[in-house]
Amino acid sequence: MKDYLVRGIAFQGLVRAVAVDLTNTVYEAQKRHDSMPTATAALGRLMVAAAAMGSTLKDKQKITLLIRSNGPLETIIAECNCQGEIRGYVKNPHLIIPPLTDTKLNVAAGVGQGMLYVTKDLGFGEPYRGSVELISGEIALDIAQYYVVSEQIPTLFAAGVLIGNEGRVKHAGGYLVQLLPGATDEIIDILEKKIEKALSVTALLSSGYTPEKILAYILGNSNFQLIGDKTQLRFQCTCNKQYLGQVLQTLGSSELKTLVDQETTEVCCQFCNETYSFSQDDIMEILKEILKNEETSNEKD
Ligand SMILES: [Zn+2]
Repeated sequence: MKDYLVRGIAFQGLVRAVAVDLTNTVYEAQKRHDSMPTATAALGRLMVAAAAMGSTLKDKQKITLLIRSNGPLETIIAECNCQGEIRGYVKNPHLIIPPLTDTKLNVAAGVGQGMLYVTKDLGFGEPYRGSVELISGEIALDIAQYYVVSEQIPTLFAAGVLIGNEGRVKHAGGYLVQLLPGATDEIIDILEKKIEKALSVTALLSSGYTPEKILAYILGNSNFQLIGDKTQLRFQCTCNKQYLGQVLQTLGSSELKTLVDQETTEVCCQFCNETYSFSQDDIMEILKEILKNEETSNEKD
């Protein structure tokens, strides 16, 4: 089954909600980064968050979530665009982090303390940027905290990645529930109690719950209804050789001169692990471009 996202409203339109099944996308990320279970779970949860938070994006817009922390995983990035294309990266994918129990990974130990940065590129002007200090390192609470602190939107968020015995992603998904202006404390109470007692996302996905059924389960008996079409989601990187060439340009001429002697230079995209080969001629072209730019900037000086 393909990954997708559904949207719904409840409590007479005072609550909006999104549910996501991202199993294939997170598994694809795991394969590309060859990541160990805890790194995969951390990255997967952040990718679920990017998908859910990206559910309101339109033309050419994208959202990027970045965790920078003192934990062993160090940096985690997840990005989603309006087409439901998601990519992600974790700096130390191969680390083995001891689990809490036989069945429970210790994502907080991998993430540690630090900051969550949210960038929304709305396709015009300066991107919107917000940030919040991590409060749990388990990611779901941190995302909810971001909305409360940075956007003043009361939010409940759940995300889970289930890793099977053989170490590969079995299920990944989550849901985001937000209160709109006018929602009362009573509604918050009802939702909090319901979600507190609810089965985990991965337990729901393991029992065959679709995103539609997850929303109905969380928001049942509250005039819940689905709105809009479902959005297909998939792992898709936006890199290409030209883009990686531009990255090489940023290295500067002295660095590039050391590469000219090599028959080929291989550059790997950090998001998808795709490798691009640059021939000596390619590198010469890039070097010429850099020298030209350096000359112009020297003239300006
Ligand atoms: Zn890539």
